[in-house]
Amino acid sequence: MDGTGTPKAIVFDLDNTLFDHQHSSRCAISAVRNRCPELAGKTLDELITKYDAAFQKLYDAYLRKEITHAHMGVKRIQTFFTDLGLAASPEKVKEFRAIYKPAYREARRAAPGSIETLTKLREHGYSLAILTNGHVKKQNEKAELIGVRHLVHHLVTSEEVGFAKPDPRIFRHVLDRLGTSADATYMVGDSPNADIKGALDAGMRPILYSPMAQGPQRLIFEQQVPVIHHMSQLLEYFAIT
Ligand SMILES: [Mg+2]
Repeated sequence: MDGTGTPKAIVFDLDNTLFDHQHSSRCAISAVRNRCPELAGKTLDELITKYDAAFQKLYDAYLRKEITHAHMGVKRIQTFFTDLGLAASPEKVKEFRAIYKPAYREARRAAPGSIETLTKLREHGYSLAILTNGHVKKQNEKAELIGVRHLVHHLVTSEEVGFAKPDPRIFRHVLDRLGTSADATYMVGDSPNADIKGALDAGMRPILYSPMAQGPQRLIFEQQVPVIHHMSQLLEYFAIT
C-alpha cells in the first residue's frame, strides 16, 4: 500500500533482470577460454562481444524463419568460432558446450541488489510477480536457485498462459493474478520490446532495467521510460528508505 491506501504491484522480468544472465555468460566464456588453447590470445571482452553478436545474428535468422530454434545453439557456437577466424569442427562445438553449460549453470545468481530490494518491497506491502517468456519448470527452478522465488507472490510463464510478451494478453493475465489495476502496476524488465512495449500496450507503468545505460530515462516507442541501473534504485524510486 502507498500513502493513499491503493494496493500497488510490481512485475519483474526474470532473464537478464532478476536473473543475472550476463554474469553467468561471462563466467562460462571465461571457462571456455581457459580450456581452449586457440582462444588464449583473445581477451575475455572480445570473446563475449563475439558470442553476443553470434546470438543476435542467429536470433535474427530465426525470426526470419531461416533456421529453427533447435538449431540456434549449435549454429551460434559455429558462428562464434568462424567470426574469430577459427575452425568450427563438430568436436570443437561439442567441447565448447561441454565446458560452457556447466560453468553457466554453476554461476547462476540473482542480479546485484535484487534480493534485498524484493525483500524491502514486500515488507512495504507491494504485491510482486515474475513474468517470463519460458517454461514453467525451468523458470521456477531458476528463480528458486537464485533465491527470488519465495520473495514473489506469483510466477507467470508464457508456456502456462499460451501467450508470450509483448502480447498484452499475458500482461492482463498477470494483472488478474495480482488483482491490481494496470495503472497501479509497474513492469521492470530489460527488453524494450518484450517488457516495455508490452507493459505500455497493457496500460502498465514500465521501468527499464539496464545496468549499462546512460541517464535516468530512455525514449522507447515514443515514451520517456524511467531507467534503473541497479535494482536498489527501485527503492529510491518508490521512496522506500
Ligand atoms: Mg529479459
